[in-house]
Amino acid sequence: MTVIDGKATAATIRAELAVRAAAFEEKSGKKAGLAVVLIGNDPASQIYVRNKIRACEEAGIRSFAHFLPENTPQKDALALIKALAADESIHGILVQLPLPRHLDAKELLAAIPAEKDVDGFSAEDIGKLAKNEGGTVACTPLGVMELLRRYRISVAGKRAVVVGRSNIVGRPMAMLLLNADATVTICHSKTSDLKEICREADILVAAVGKPKFITGDMVKEGAVVIDVGMDRDENGKLCGDVDFEGASAHASFLTPVPGGVGPMTIAMLLQNTVEAAERTLS
Ligand code: NAP
Repeated sequence: MTVIDGKATAATIRAELAVRAAAFEEKSGKKAGLAVVLIGNDPASQIYVRNKIRACEEAGIRSFAHFLPENTPQKDALALIKALAADESIHGILVQLPLPRHLDAKELLAAIPAEKDVDGFSAEDIGKLAKNEGGTVACTPLGVMELLRRYRISVAGKRAVVVGRSNIVGRPMAMLLLNADATVTICHSKTSDLKEICREADILVAAVGKPKFITGDMVKEGAVVIDVGMDRDENGKLCGDVDFEGASAHASFLTPVPGGVGPMTIAMLLQNTVEAAERTLS
């Protein structure tokens, strides 16, 4: 069984992107720029945003951090996003989710123009993904595809099962696997016979948000198991949606948590930002 090293793969990608970011700077006379908007005091979001800003700086991408208080009115948040949309030094805009409850996330995200939508959440990008016409893809599922590609795991013709159907992970993940010619099944909380369906998977992606939900008896012999989950176990320790020990008895490839999909998400955010900047040159 091979443990897929997302940390090392992400480091390689970040180094490659630093070269592309430097080339962009040389051609355009300015750095690729990513604006990160964090509204409120969610501690996990603060950590994610800090990590994203640090990764940007290390790759030679300029970050513009906007930290707004929890009680920010909708009109102020909207005005900020519109100003960032009009700013030519900014190539990507990321609004960290979840937003405080009083804010209309849909309206705020819709204010990000598609060309600066480095999260791939816009209706335009989701439409392109659904039609297999390119566009910017959500960072986490894109990171999973990149892991499969770099580990030379073939997807075409394989049975893929995605557990979870969220807009940011499960759905785009299933679409990417379908676009790569897998035969895809999407499972969710109303799925019957989940165990049997998972056991048919050559490629099993878990994006459920429940610690160690996928147990060894749900994994087919030789399956590739990708754990997107970032959960806490009964002792408060970070763990994934997959029971690593149980799955490792059957899987051929397995991503750990931490050090699997997580670091790839940030690497793909940088990649989407560099690509958004590069598109402004053409
Ligand atoms: P989410 O929006 O809560 O979606 C969870 C999905 O799991 C839903 O589609 C839900 O089904 C399904 N589900 C829940 N219970 C189930 C059950 N008993 N059987 C089958 N399906 C079930 O979560 P998310 O945003 O997609 O995130 C999923 C996990 O990935 C979380 O642990 C999150 O922290 C992690 N994550 C990691 C990264 C990263 O960078 N590594 C990025 C994003 C998210 P219904 O639709 O029927 O409710």
